[in-house]
Amino acid sequence: MTDRESLKRLRIPDTEQPLRILMSACLSGIRCGYDGTANGEYPAALKLLEYDTVKIFNFCPEEFSFGSPREMCDIYGGTGFDVLDGRARVLTESGVDWTEGMLRASEKMLEIARREKIELALMMDISAACGSQVIYDGNRFAENKVYRAGAGVCAAQLLRNGFNVISQRDYASLEILYNKLDPAHVIDETKTDHHETDWYRSYFG
Ligand code: SF4
Repeated sequence: MTDRESLKRLRIPDTEQPLRILMSACLSGIRCGYDGTANGEYPAALKLLEYDTVKIFNFCPEEFSFGSPREMCDIYGGTGFDVLDGRARVLTESGVDWTEGMLRASEKMLEIARREKIELALMMDISAACGSQVIYDGNRFAENKVYRAGAGVCAAQLLRNGFNVISQRDYASLEILYNKLDPAHVIDETKTDHHETDWYRSYFG
């Protein structure tokens, strides 16, 4: 996850030189989710599409490697960083090992981020690929599903390589971003990021 001070250091863009944001494609409403949907609607992320001072690059890493629709997958034995380091695996709900495909997808996402000179990535939290604050610890369809604090594989790849990553639930960070994109936007100081919510604090302690 990227801290808010880093976001404050982002430049102020204009229509000539818009801020370059890499976005989980489903957050833009593209139906690339495992079940062929856009994984719901997230107005705080969709709001970015309204600005003419931003250039959005949409990418779905799981669709890149596995197509849509597809099985659901989760990380077993660690976070996305552990997958990058060979200490954890990505398995589908039926037990197929998708680790190699997920690593390829993360490398493709990194390639796009570098090629397009991305300044920020906005990614769907709680995904094995795109999560940046929270992921599942093993099978999300298990009776006693367990969450783990940490990043998915593709978010970890971007973070490890120096890119800023926030999630669609990081509302305080998004307020800073809206203000960058439109200086007339008054930052709502009451908003919080995902790791500051009551749920996150009570669950992870
Ligand atoms: S892999 Fe990422 S972009 Fe694709 S559906 Fe899942 S959360 Fe969205």
